[in-house]
Amino acid sequence: MDQLIDNTCIEEKAMSPEEQMIQDEYALLLEDYRNSGHGMNFELVDKAFNFANKAHHGVKRRSGEPYMMHPLAVARIVVREIGLGTTSVCAALLHDVVEDTEYTVEDIENLFGKKIATIVDGLTKIAGGVFGEQASTQAENFRKLLLTISEDVRVIMIKIADRLHNMRTLSSMPAAKQYKIAGETLYIYAPLSYRLGFFKIKSELEDLSFKYEHPEIFEQIKSRLAAGDPEREDVYKQFIAPVQEKLISMGYEFQIEKRVKTVYSIWNKMKTKNIPFEEIFDLLAVRIIYKTQDNIGEKDQAWMIYSTVTNFYRPHPERIRDWVSTPKANGYEALHVTVMGPAGQWIEVQIRSERMHEIAEKGISAHWKYKTGENSPETELDNWLKTIKEILDNPEPSAIDFLDTFKLNLFSTEIFVFTPKGEIKTLPQNATALDFAFSLHSDLGMQCIGAKVNHKLVPLSHTLESGDQVEILTSKKQSPQPEWINYVTTARAKTKLKSVFKKENRTVITKGKLILDEKFKDINLPLDNQTIQRLLNYFKLNQRDELYYELGKGVISLVDIEKKIFKQKSGFRWMNYWKLQFGSSKKQEDEPAETDKKTPLPKIDRKKTLKLTDDIQGEVQYKIAECCNPIPGDDVLGYINDDETVTLHKRQCPVAAKLKSNFGERLVSAEWTSKKILSFPAILEVRGIDAQGVLIQIIKVISQDYEVNIQKINLETKDGIFVGRFNIFVHGTEDVNNLCMNILKIKAVNSVKRIEEDVKPDLES
Ligand code: MN
Repeated sequence: MDQLIDNTCIEEKAMSPEEQMIQDEYALLLEDYRNSGHGMNFELVDKAFNFANKAHHGVKRRSGEPYMMHPLAVARIVVREIGLGTTSVCAALLHDVVEDTEYTVEDIENLFGKKIATIVDGLTKIAGGVFGEQASTQAENFRKLLLTISEDVRVIMIKIADRLHNMRTLSSMPAAKQYKIAGETLYIYAPLSYRLGFFKIKSELEDLSFKYEHPEIFEQIKSRLAAGDPEREDVYKQFIAPVQEKLISMGYEFQIEKRVKTVYSIWNKMKTKNIPFEEIFDLLAVRIIYKTQDNIGEKDQAWMIYSTVTNFYRPHPERIRDWVSTPKANGYEALHVTVMGPAGQWIEVQIRSERMHEIAEKGISAHWKYKTGENSPETELDNWLKTIKEILDNPEPSAIDFLDTFKLNLFSTEIFVFTPKGEIKTLPQNATALDFAFSLHSDLGMQCIGAKVNHKLVPLSHTLESGDQVEILTSKKQSPQPEWINYVTTARAKTKLKSVFKKENRTVITKGKLILDEKFKDINLPLDNQTIQRLLNYFKLNQRDELYYELGKGVISLVDIEKKIFKQKSGFRWMNYWKLQFGSSKKQEDEPAETDKKTPLPKIDRKKTLKLTDDIQGEVQYKIAECCNPIPGDDVLGYINDDETVTLHKRQCPVAAKLKSNFGERLVSAEWTSKKILSFPAILEVRGIDAQGVLIQIIKVISQDYEVNIQKINLETKDGIFVGRFNIFVHGTEDVNNLCMNILKIKAVNSVKRIEEDVKPDLES
């Protein structure tokens, strides 16, 4: 052991190119460390570096680099981007030693002490990824991850650094792994980074995940964004010139930065608002970071800068965000205002002091730096960490439920409400009066009968809004009702209620199991795992207990169940498609189910990208998910079912996102190689002015010019505007794009887009 920490033995040998690379990176780490402003302990860092370097000696990463480059990179992120000190730098250097080498946590403890060993131990426990082999273990791992937060929040910060470096170097991983890791990052690590206040890291994680999930869209948006760069630069310079001049004349010390929206957030906006790139107007934001002047005071100065900016530019009345008076729950402080820029576009201006800026960049670590002494008031962040501990003390019956509940509270935007005494409380958006009651005290929640919001009586399901003053009304006779679970959104209230209902549920579950057993005895069929899985698929449930519960409650019924579940297997939707080739006269409704062929399908190689051909001669073993209806050309992923068939989802499908995190091992990457033989259903939504003959023109384009079959048309008009939904059959996205372009050429048509679900058109939107 002694020899390991003796760094002279490395230096004396002639240095290999790999070793040179490692030493160079280490020199950079030391420089970052020296500049960090933390207490220095070079001896300890040196010892950790040499120990890890010896332990990983000779091992390479997939990229071909020496393995040691990874812990070094993580340590650099930890010190430079997250702002942590000596203990964390050492733990980062050692973070993979226990996982990947012979050494144990005890070895680490003997050499580096208890603190570092505990952190390394925490990191080792969650090393297998948050989502492992099976759903239950995944959630269990996630629980472990949260436990480490409550033990020492530095564990999770180093884990985020680890993930960030793995994402930055993800290109050397095989494709199937790439989007699994990307999915997990987007599902858990980005929200978690946001919660801990690492905004920059959160944005980078999102962009990187997005890049691997939708490489083409990513490149498209990126290049369009780059195309607008010169123009944006001009606007920016023009915009800041008068503000800068004025602030200098006022004697302020400050910096102004240009901020451009990230690719991921642009895409998100395009998706949620259903608008094209051109219609996103807030691509540019301006950030003013000021040095607080003692004679003015931090908060007043923010408002004086606000006043200066709005003297030049008109503010948008609804877009002023004052997180200076009331910080966000994750600690973020700043004053945001959107103003009308010189070229007639809206520009967001973010005003922050240097202290606020550091909190925004380094999140929780800066936050604690500014928190002076033991007696400083509890912040929202402390409260959040406390909530985590509470949830962990109160384990859910189902681990997946737990994960969902927790995630609810991870990424939500907040509202502020007041108690009758004027005390301020932060709650997630869409929180109800009942959530508020639980946030004050569980007893208040359990006995809540209603509330007064701004002195008006409301039911306990009432959704609160920012600024509401809420008084909770209780009764000793009240007890929690089952439907309450639908009235609450906070993890805290959900967890409390569930543990109350858990007991009652047991009885219902036992009853449901009995019903199921008897039914299968009656129809004389075995109730094996496969059958249970089919039942779960049929009823769209995740777990056995849910199935028993719903049966026990009488929510679902087993009438003719044998026909339903065994028919389903052979009724693949592709059977329909293949009879729906282009030019075929009519869609044949409801094919009789094919008889169950017992030939097992070949096993799917999960490591390879699945090639989806629509060649009907070939092995067709995929089906199309009904939630998102992907067609050739869409970015898709496959979920492997028990019978080795594959269900295809769009990558951005919310159901797929859930599958990704819960059943990561069952996913394969998939790629279309369409030969334009099969047709797939798609829905086009056309909006426009209700002029005479417009419908005929659209139908003509679809059915005559493109020979596409129309299955269904749904048209609604109101006040001279129409919305039409056309259910059509196409070969892929290429057909859709061509169709859209040509329909758009019709004069009365304003917009055409493909939509995922066949919902009633909404004329108001
Ligand atoms: Mn690692």
